[in-house]
Amino acid sequence: MGTRVCIETWGCQMNLHQSEVIAGVLTSAGYVIVDSLEQADVVIFNGCMVRQLAEEKVFGRIGAVADEKRKRPVLLGVGGCMGQIHGDALIRRVASIDFVFGASGHHALPALIEQAKGQRVAALAEPIFESEWSVQRQSAVTGMVTITEGCSNFCSYCIVPYARGPMRSRPRDLILKEVDDLCQRGYKEVLLLGQNVNSYGTDQPSYGSFAELLTQVAATGIRRVRFTTSHPKDISETIFLAMAQSPNVCHHLHLACQSGSDDMLRAMNRKYDRDHYIAMTDLGRKIMPDLNFSTDLIVGFPGETDADFEATMTLIERVRFGTVFVAKYSPRPMTRSAELPDDVPASVKEERLDRVLSRQRMIALEENSRFVGQDLDVLVEGVSRSGLMYGRADDHRTVMCLGEAALGDFVVVHVEGTSVSSLSGSILGQENLEGSHDRHSDPESGR
Ligand code: SAM
Ligand code: SF4
Repeated sequence: MGTRVCIETWGCQMNLHQSEVIAGVLTSAGYVIVDSLEQADVVIFNGCMVRQLAEEKVFGRIGAVADEKRKRPVLLGVGGCMGQIHGDALIRRVASIDFVFGASGHHALPALIEQAKGQRVAALAEPIFESEWSVQRQSAVTGMVTITEGCSNFCSYCIVPYARGPMRSRPRDLILKEVDDLCQRGYKEVLLLGQNVNSYGTDQPSYGSFAELLTQVAATGIRRVRFTTSHPKDISETIFLAMAQSPNVCHHLHLACQSGSDDMLRAMNRKYDRDHYIAMTDLGRKIMPDLNFSTDLIVGFPGETDADFEATMTLIERVRFGTVFVAKYSPRPMTRSAELPDDVPASVKEERLDRVLSRQRMIALEENSRFVGQDLDVLVEGVSRSGLMYGRADDHRTVMCLGEAALGDFVVVHVEGTSVSSLSGSILGQENLEGSHDRHSDPESGR
């Protein structure tokens, strides 16, 4: 049996996908991927540094590997954003780490692991654009496909541009080839990935725009197309129209907002204001009445007053997101906001986080209850802990399915119940392919 490797991942979907690439590279080189630290000869942590909490969690797990190392030989490697930012300081400061790698250059990992058997080593490739990947995918239903790497936006709180380098678009023909390949292999859904997918092609105009790419990806015939993340400064009517015109592009938009206060948005260097954000969500819903928005919010950014925070509360009231991801601000190394005093007390951050979450829970429940009595097309994606099949509606709502279905099936579910995080109902049969976007719009609310 080959050397056994366990990969643990923290952070966003882009990190999850990079771990699929790492698994692909190592499998091609004869390594065997295993599920747990206890089974592994080599442990790889693909770490996140976006928030302090994520970083602390990785350090907690490093302690667990150090315990294992006292019992038997295990090699530990740390990479991703965390490896890229800390570099060889990790080797100097943490005795249990054997090798460090960065956010790119994964093809060199087999050689790096071999080297680490003889000496502790850090090898950071420049954040270059890697355009050909071997991928060992976690899901047999949804295939993640990178369309941009890095980010050039420099939001003042964010470490990503320092960890991942400037935004680079992946050549369009490679993206389309990968999506075609997923179609051939029976994948039902593709998720296009980038820190700001809307800016695709702005660095390489010959690749065409994001709206053009979206239309071409949809034309491959893959049954569903999703994409994340969108940036409010770059979303446009052209993109909304491209979404609306291809019936297999899902009516869900993750449009990270961060704050409802213009002063905070300016301090965050987001390059849009509250009115623009609201105007864009209104326009999206005018073009696609059933468009479901989700967002990211930060509470307790330096200088955030009660009035700033109330502006965030009124924004979630106004937009009525399906899902909100909210984080307490934490200063990150190298970023501009780390130079500002982190002056919102921890207790106030906590209170603001609770307020957003509890109001959003009510909004989600109210929004979800609009679907009771409707029939939704659901792509079955997994089995819940209670043994129920679950999947997603076109607009990304999670649907628990009562009845017989297999992973990757498209089924029609009659919605009978709702909770804060999901809908539930009975499977009526296989999906009707026609007019799937219309099926779950609510004629009474006009959305
Ligand atoms: N590219 C995406 C965008 O523009 O929204 C998001 C990428 S970032 C990896 C994911 C989320 O982490 C951000 O949307 C933000 O809400 C949160 N985040 C980033 N830096 C943070 C910080 N210093 N403190 C708290 N949350 C942070
Ligand atoms: Fe970070 Fe802003 Fe880039 Fe998103 S757009 S990755 S928040 S710098």
